[in-house]
Amino acid sequence: MKYNRTYNFSAGPAMMPEPVLEEIAAEMLNYRGSGMCVMEMSHRSKVFQQIRDEAEADLRRLMGIPDNYKVLFIQGGGTVQFAMVAMNLMKNGLACYVETGAWSKKAIAEAKKYGEVKIVASSADKNFSYIPDCSGLDIPENADYVYICENETINGTTYFNLPDTKGKVLVSDQSSMFLSRPCDVEKYGLIWAGVQKNVGPAGMAVVIIREDLLRDDLPGFVPTYMSYKTHADNDSLYNTPNCWAIYCCGKVFRYLLDNGGLEAMNARNEEKAKILYDFLDGSKLFTGAVVKEDRSLMNVPFVTPSKEQDADVVAASKAAGFDNLKGHKSVGGLRASIYNAMPREGVEALVEFLKKYEAEHA
Ligand SMILES: *Cc1c(COP(=O)(O)O)cnc(C)c1O
Repeated sequence: MKYNRTYNFSAGPAMMPEPVLEEIAAEMLNYRGSGMCVMEMSHRSKVFQQIRDEAEADLRRLMGIPDNYKVLFIQGGGTVQFAMVAMNLMKNGLACYVETGAWSKKAIAEAKKYGEVKIVASSADKNFSYIPDCSGLDIPENADYVYICENETINGTTYFNLPDTKGKVLVSDQSSMFLSRPCDVEKYGLIWAGVQKNVGPAGMAVVIIREDLLRDDLPGFVPTYMSYKTHADNDSLYNTPNCWAIYCCGKVFRYLLDNGGLEAMNARNEEKAKILYDFLDGSKLFTGAVVKEDRSLMNVPFVTPSKEQDADVVAASKAAGFDNLKGHKSVGGLRASIYNAMPREGVEALVEFLKKYEAEHA
């Protein structure tokens, strides 16, 4: 490997495409004749305006975002969105949430500060190892929206079918699967994603929101910055945005467009995940933590028979040159996050390592 980079299986911040990092490095000291680094630029300058506009245009092309949706770049990462969603969309003061793990639990806890939350389905009974049936949810007539975490980063589950929301607005946290597969934006009222999982550097969320959900009648306590309309009305330039993240994400959007778009990413991701899942399915030592039909293509949690052995595998993997295979502290075990930028060779190398470990410890 040219740069002696490690295969980094972190759940986030995570790997970025190497050609993108090379381009960023080449433009670091002097961005395209501007005489400065993007980090040094005024967010009101022409040159940055173009970076922002291109990033949005490329994302729109990549996802096929309809004209009646706004694309917003908002600081505060994913966690701020837990609050923003509830603050902006709870008009009747009642929202439905599907509970599939730590990230939906956080969203639920935050939403409860602003209104009533009804948990319409949950997989808590089996340690969040599956996606509950969402075909016949009991959704009250006055519910403002139905909220899902579409890919559970910690537990490793993903939706292959969206819930039937009975005509209510669907809100989705796509943080750990954003741009990993084609997405029919029109099925959602709002999609948001913290970008440090599958796109770029930490500290920003992309929000895609249907225009009719933007409100100018928000309660007075809602901070100006926390209103989606503030960002929509100002092209995400109400205040100084995370210029650096917008620039890096824009590079990744362009890279994905140049490499076949989301269909191609999905095919590659299916192929990569299959290599790992096939191994786990056949292994006598390692067991996948999720039911087959709901397994994430991005985050793959698995365990050995004991905590001690889990820790031993993590230590051995580090010594073998892999990084961040430890499961989230709340669930333990191991977890391999294999986002868009994880090369197929990385997954193959990991499986070779796990095979060898298993043979040596049989
Ligand atoms: C990481 C993550 C978040 C939180 O993102 P922060 O930027 O750390 O606040 C929210 N939801 C999901 C699904 C995540 O994976």
